[in-house]
Amino acid sequence: MSQRFFSTKSPGQFVDVKEAVLRSLPADNGLYMPEKISPLGDEFWKNWRDYSFAELGFHIARQVFQDSVPADEMERIVNEVVTFEAPVVSVKEQEHVLELFHGPTLAFKDFGARFMARLMGYLTRNDDGLLTVLVATSGDTGGAVASAFHGVPGTRVVILYPKGKVSGLQEKQLTTLGQNITAIEIDGTFDDCQRLVKSAFLDREMSEKLNLTSANSINISRLVPQSFYYFEAARQLPEGVEPVFVIPSGNFGNLTAGLLAEIMGLPVKHFVAATNINDVVPAYLADGSYTPRPSVQTISNAMDVGAPSNFARMQNIFGDQWEKMKERIAGYAYNDEITRDTIRRIQKETGYVLEPHGAVGWLAAEQWRKNCPEDHTVVLETAHPSKFLDVMEEELGEGSVDIPERLACLADQEKVAYEMKPEEEVFHAWLRDFSE
Ligand SMILES: *Cc1c(COP(=O)(O)O)cnc(C)c1O
Repeated sequence: MSQRFFSTKSPGQFVDVKEAVLRSLPADNGLYMPEKISPLGDEFWKNWRDYSFAELGFHIARQVFQDSVPADEMERIVNEVVTFEAPVVSVKEQEHVLELFHGPTLAFKDFGARFMARLMGYLTRNDDGLLTVLVATSGDTGGAVASAFHGVPGTRVVILYPKGKVSGLQEKQLTTLGQNITAIEIDGTFDDCQRLVKSAFLDREMSEKLNLTSANSINISRLVPQSFYYFEAARQLPEGVEPVFVIPSGNFGNLTAGLLAEIMGLPVKHFVAATNINDVVPAYLADGSYTPRPSVQTISNAMDVGAPSNFARMQNIFGDQWEKMKERIAGYAYNDEITRDTIRRIQKETGYVLEPHGAVGWLAAEQWRKNCPEDHTVVLETAHPSKFLDVMEEELGEGSVDIPERLACLADQEKVAYEMKPEEEVFHAWLRDFSE
């Protein structure tokens, strides 16, 4: 049986996998969800603790996509995606961290971006012409998407980023790959970049000619592989332990992937949503009123989100019932000051180096443990500390963080990017030239 997908705004209408993945965002501005996800079967549960990370991933991906993607193709895709580990580190006896930063660009976004790239490659294998992926980035997403699509046949990527507003090494992640990856440095803001990308999609002729698609984080194919590591984490804990997952959150993709894992049968004691002062979801969990607002800048900037895009999926999963959501998810928020204190305190107490997003998660885990000290808490550590070197060195001193070779080596590589004013006509003319 094939899986079908519906928009959260039109639950009775379905599209196939190709439409859901390549269109990314339904025309009604909802979000795509799989029609049916059922718990994994007995055969899986008999063996799951002995499966490799990639084997777990294969069974989970099959459960979601079913026969929409043939088993042998899905196996190949997952094997190409899951080539690095997601280790659970026990910082204290029952206080664990799930390290999601061992991929090529040192953030959990590698899982989603790599899976999406390969799935798109498969879905367009018989199409004429190249698939053009347009993406606007303010940091982590662009690097993960560029690395994921690099060298994938039949695809090319155009990345727009705001000049002077991404860190030096982040910029190198976007601008040094070459081949099918092209970077455009926009003399403007991240919002300008997003506006330009949107304008290209709205131009139907352009969109069709270039076979445009988007790689933003609401794509359903980025979510599914994020479920893999919830199983992988649970497998590393002692048998019978039901973990409390603590998830530093911005757009709530990671948390939604955890909910999908639970629907597929993974035993989870509870979910804890941890945010910085952009606390729209913790506030909703507290009193049932959802009030999106402009985001505020913090040191955990990948979570500076004022209108979390996956909230619609969370609501769909809980049937739009606040009481049900707050029964399963606790929500806590923290400011930069206490986050900085926590980075210093935990390093001193345990030697473990948390980066700002992980530190927000750690605080929430401590809060949870006040009432349930016997639980095993697993904080998702979403990126490597070296990606936030400024903050880390302010708190822990210069040289306190090792920079992994794959990031450090970028420093000497040559940046290649087009420079452009943030004007639609200029960008569209460039795209037309590019497509010739
Ligand atoms: C993207 C990102 C987040 C937020 O994840 P969501 O799935 O959007 O909630 C947290 N931490 C880091 C380092 C990120 O890059």
